[in-house]
Amino acid sequence: RYSMLVCNRLESTAAASDSSEPPSEKFEYQAEVSRLMDLIVHSLYSNKEVFLRELISNASDALDKLRFLSVTEPELLKDAVDLDIRIQSDKDNGIITITDSGIGMTREELVDCLGTIAQSGTAKFLKALKDSKDAGVDSNLIGQFGVGFYSSFLVSDKVTVSTKSPKSDKQYVWEGEANANSYTIREETDPEKLLPRGTRLTLYLKRDDKGFAHPERIQNLVKNYSQFVSFPIYTWQEKG
Ligand code: ADP
Ligand code: MG
Repeated sequence: RYSMLVCNRLESTAAASDSSEPPSEKFEYQAEVSRLMDLIVHSLYSNKEVFLRELISNASDALDKLRFLSVTEPELLKDAVDLDIRIQSDKDNGIITITDSGIGMTREELVDCLGTIAQSGTAKFLKALKDSKDAGVDSNLIGQFGVGFYSSFLVSDKVTVSTKSPKSDKQYVWEGEANANSYTIREETDPEKLLPRGTRLTLYLKRDDKGFAHPERIQNLVKNYSQFVSFPIYTWQEKG
């Protein structure tokens, strides 16, 4: 059930190295991730809307994980905010933000979780990919296994992940672009963007996919997925 714990193998070292990092650091993706990104960005996969299900499920996992860990570490809940998921969209600018008040990620966890393949679904996907030679099959595999966080690049040119772990004093921003083989991490310095705890993903939609930021579209997709999610999901529209 708690497959997402796998990704946190560096957890114990996380707090120690928060002090002397550069303002913005560039990281190369693990080779498998580059391959996966390339495939996602260039695939003809038509069921792109799965990105929202994947991101809601990550938000829900992060909330579950917080709830689970707080049984033995109640101090994780010291920032008293409701456990929920908020989806805000700005249809004029083609931007979607998905915010959860879950466990968040430390700087090390960001590197470890959003730059390598640490989890089962994507690993299986890559295995199946290796066994197939045909590009049409590749596209089908995206739907069959799910490609998790990276599915955000089915619809986005750029994605930022701003995240605050209750184990870190600082909030960090991961930023990646669809056609790049590296990503950056920096400290969040904008006071308006600071979160008490949890993670905010911002998707800058591709020109042809800006329609996903329409409130009706989001609400319909959420309606389909939310029945499996045990935390409230709020949606609203940026007023233009
Ligand atoms: P999976 O959910 O199958 O592990 P993903 O690619 O969807 O794979 O996510 C990779 C990892 O990134 C997760 O296991 C988790 O550790 C981390 N992650 C993704 N989204 C969030 C989030 N909203 N909050 C905290 N951690 C997250
Ligand atoms: Mg996931």
